[in-house]
Parts: sequence; structure tokens; C-alpha cells
Amino acid sequence: MPGFEIFGDEERKEVNDVLESGVLFRYGFDAKRNGNWKAKELEEELCKLTGASHAHLCSSGTSALNIALAACGVGAGDEVITTPFTFVATFEAILFAGAIPVFAEIDETLCLSPEGIEAAITPRTKAVMCVHMCGSMAKIDQITALCNKKGIVLIEDACQAIGASFKGKHLGTFGKAGCFSFDSVKTVTCGEGGGMITSDRDVYLKADQYSDHGHDHIGNDRGLEDHPIIGYNFRISELNAAVGKAQLRKLGQIIEIQKKNKNAIKDAIKTVPGITFRELPDEAGDSGTFLSFFLPDAESARTAAKNLAEAGVGCPYWFNNNWHYFRQWHHLHGMKSAAAVQGSIAQGLPDFSKIELPESDRIMSRAISMQIMLSWTKEELDQRIEKTVAALTL
Ligand SMILES: *Cc1c(COP(=O)(O)O)cnc(C)c1O
Repeated sequence: MPGFEIFGDEERKEVNDVLESGVLFRYGFDAKRNGNWKAKELEEELCKLTGASHAHLCSSGTSALNIALAACGVGAGDEVITTPFTFVATFEAILFAGAIPVFAEIDETLCLSPEGIEAAITPRTKAVMCVHMCGSMAKIDQITALCNKKGIVLIEDACQAIGASFKGKHLGTFGKAGCFSFDSVKTVTCGEGGGMITSDRDVYLKADQYSDHGHDHIGNDRGLEDHPIIGYNFRISELNAAVGKAQLRKLGQIIEIQKKNKNAIKDAIKTVPGITFRELPDEAGDSGTFLSFFLPDAESARTAAKNLAEAGVGCPYWFNNNWHYFRQWHHLHGMKSAAAVQGSIAQGLPDFSKIELPESDRIMSRAISMQIMLSWTKEELDQRIEKTVAALTL
């Protein structure tokens, strides 16, 4: 999965362009920057890749989620339906918007299910934040149709899914806004960075302003710019964007290797009795960052995870994982947060320690995901397959 496995001269050259000009800021300094506009260029490349009309880079995937919520007008008191299986950043962003995360059931896509979303809708539902986990997709056609029918804003957290698509349409382009992360372990990395895409010009303009203190970015004198809205600083630096430019050019190659490695392991473990696979609404659009599969029950999944770890091919068993499944989010259960956040929004929040999601538990307690690496040699891959088949044969 991680682009950091294939750093090379391409990244160094892009970064050196920036260092040689001495302009690390993405705005202004037109005369000094030797024609380097790394952030702007990476935004154009993101539009080309995804087919979105606009892209806006920012400091992280988490800030991309923040910006998307703000730009789509989601704020205090609004309910945002989201998934119990995601990285904690998803609910953090909702809470920091002053909104209320409402956790709904997932299905065997490992993402929110259309039925789960429908059951969680209330008169206060303003948005759905659908997360395309582990490089593949939710039933995004059905979810888009549902949100359109109900007049609910759809925001896609595609932080783990760059390069993935559903029936030829890039993930992140189904909703009003889509978000990517370019942190150090994502498929494409900037070191730190994120991006929001949209085909709604108003959402784009708001995102552009909100992420830079409200600057309207009209003209080339920052001191004379107007500030139509109150914003914040979620800017990316030219250095980070430079790394991302070189990385994004390698995305095609990254996805090809991932899919090849993933399919080799998948074909081998298909023969193991009792193993079934994550539902992929469009297998051709999967980016191949993980191979996710199910054991028949929770006990055999725990045994399999233990066997895999002992064989040296350890895989995340998300159900017990501290960061990706709601059962271990004790800080959320207790709403342990900095005073400012807690004080402003604590009233009206549900008791997160009481959430019950039996369907999600039933699915996640049986699920294991193997992370697919780019750097495996043929020999390493063959050994991994052999060890994996043995560890899963219970
Ligand atoms: C990584 C990730 C984020 C946050 O991205 P950062 O760039 O680390 O802030 C958000 N959502 C998901 C699903 C992620 O995997």
C-alpha cells in the first residue's frame, strides 16, 4: 500500500525545485518562485485523475474532511451519519465541525450499508460521511441515490482509496465532496497532506478560502485580499506537494503491483474451506491495498489472526484494533476531549459508550485484512502464500 516503499530520484527532483527557488509557500512570491507551483500543479493532476472539476490540497486527510464539512455547510447540531469501521479522524472531523456523529451499520463491503444509513436518518441528518475503507468501495451507487432522494449531503472519505473507482468513476466523485489523505502510510504520500475534490464551484471556493484564514486568493497581494468567510490554517506546503507530484505519477504502477500481489494471495486462499471474501461492488475498481476476508465465526477469526502472526505474516484483526473500530474508541465513549471542543458541543451528544451495532460486530468479528506491499519479491510472495494458507487451514 504505501508509496513510501518506492521513493526515488523523482521525489528528490521535485523537492529540489522548491528548495532551489527558496519559496516554500504555495501562494504568492510570483517573481521568486522560478515558475514552481507544486500545489497548484498537483491539484490539476488530481482533477485529471479523478475527473472532478476542482481539487484543493491541504495539510492532511483529517483537515480535508474538516474543510469538506465546512464547505458543504455542515455545522453545529447537524447529525452526520458515518461508519464504526474507519480511522478515528472521520469522527474527529465531525466533532470538530460541531456536528454529531451518528454511527450506522456496515455490510460485507466493510463500509456503510444503504440499509444502515436509511435506518439512522432523522430530521436532523444533514450529511452522510461514507468511508471507502481499505482501498475498496461501499455500494456507492445505492448510497448516492439514497442521499439524493432524501436531500442529504454525501461526503466521501476516500483517504484510503486513491486510484479506486466504481464502474469507471473515481471514488470521491459521487458525493458533493471527496477527501484523500497523503500521510506517510497512504498509497500516495506527501509526507503529510490531504486533498478535497468537488465538482461544485461554490464548495471549492469555500474550501479554498476556509483552509487559508478566509483569504479569497484574488490578485497577488495577500495584504489586499478580502476575507469573505472566517477560516483557519489547513495549508499544505510546496515541499509536501512536490513529493506528492512525483508520487501521483507512480499511482498506475502502484495499483498494478498491488492488484497482482493481492490476486495471487486471493487465488491461493480461495481453496481454504470456510474462507469467504469482502464484497466488492466492482472488483475491477478495487485499488488492491488490502485483501480482506472472513472466517466462519469470531472464534476461528481470532485463531486465524493468531496463527498468521505466529507464522510471521501478521494481519490486522480490526475488531480488537485500537484505532479503526468503535469498540476500542474509549476516548470517544467518555468524550474525553480538550475543553473547548467538549464545552461547545457536549450538550446534545448521545452517550457514545452505549452504542450497539450488532450487524457490524457480526461482520467485523469475522474479518481479517492483509496489507499488500509493493516491495515483495516473487520469492517472498510465494512464501507468504504458503504460510497464509497453512495458518488459515484450521
Ligand atoms: C488516514 C485516514 C484519515 C486521515 O488522514 P491524515 O492525513 O492522516 O490526517 C482519514 N480517514 C481515513 C479513513 C484514513 O485512513
